[in-house]
Amino acid sequence: MTRAFVALGGNLGDVPETLRRALDALAALPRTRLVAHSRFYRTPPWGLREQPPFINAAAELETTLTPHQLLAAMLQIERDAGRVRAGERWGPRTLDLDILHMDGEARYDKRLTLPHPRIAERAFVLLPLAELAPDLELSGQGRVDALLALADTTGCEPLP
Ligand code: ATP
Ligand code: CA
Ligand code: CA
Repeated sequence: MTRAFVALGGNLGDVPETLRRALDALAALPRTRLVAHSRFYRTPPWGLREQPPFINAAAELETTLTPHQLLAAMLQIERDAGRVRAGERWGPRTLDLDILHMDGEARYDKRLTLPHPRIAERAFVLLPLAELAPDLELSGQGRVDALLALADTTGCEPLP
């Protein structure tokens, strides 16, 4: 089994419900166990500012799926949640699932980069990830707790 960390987020529709369903769908994947998930955080939009706030979370999985199999399964869960890939990158969406890290995997290809290359600059990823794995070393970026200490967490609040 390989340990994997996944980011969940969205800003259209009933996002807490969508994230709960996505966690159930991740737990139901073949050859995969959902080990833990973080709290849900309300976070300011990133990339494109004029859009609703996001809700973000992170999950820890154990899986024997390959990285590309896991990515394909996550893209299917996004489609099942009504995600339409249109318009600008980083724009509003019902559900976004990214693979943040898989143990032993450092890769860059057309479809998949691991670790996810933009973790260090994203408080909305680091806050939930630090609940699960503060000591995780992200190759090329650094330790999660150290990155979080440098991140701007303004406007990020856990949901009650
Ligand atoms: P960002 O990657 O900056 O978080 P995004 O999540 O909004 O942006 P998407 O439009 O959801 O970007 O995804 C574009 C493509 O990114 C996906 O189709 C996928 O092939 C690719 N991709 C590369 N690395 C990863 C990764 N680690 N996790 C998820 N998708 C990835
Ligand atoms: Ca993303
Ligand atoms: Ca994505």
